[in-house]
Amino acid sequence: MKIAMINCLKANSVCTAAGCLKALNQRKAHFEDYTGSDVELVALARCNGCDAGIDDGFREKLDRIVSEGAEVCHFGICTVKKETGEECPVITEAGEYLEKKGVRLVRGTH
Ligand code: SF4
Repeated sequence: MKIAMINCLKANSVCTAAGCLKALNQRKAHFEDYTGSDVELVALARCNGCDAGIDDGFREKLDRIVSEGAEVCHFGICTVKKETGEECPVITEAGEYLEKKGVRLVRGTH
């Protein structure tokens, strides 16, 4: 099973992806369904920021996730706005794009 992850660029200043990778390696939290299965992480991407939205570069990243054969894309919890609990609309749009290309979405990592 090939998977990808996308996280929020705003989290980048403090995020090493260690929490996501630990949960993946230990098949915990939103990776529990992969218990007993081989998983290949083919992409670990960030969005391009609120001002950029779905710009050409972000679309290129999304296309790369598809061309690398990711069957599932996880969105980090950082893509949900703490203030409202709602998913960032840029990420929602990115998810719709990926789903149209046949990638299943999982909202959450650890
Ligand atoms: S577009 Fe969304 S996911 Fe990206 S930096 Fe802004 S709030 Fe974070």
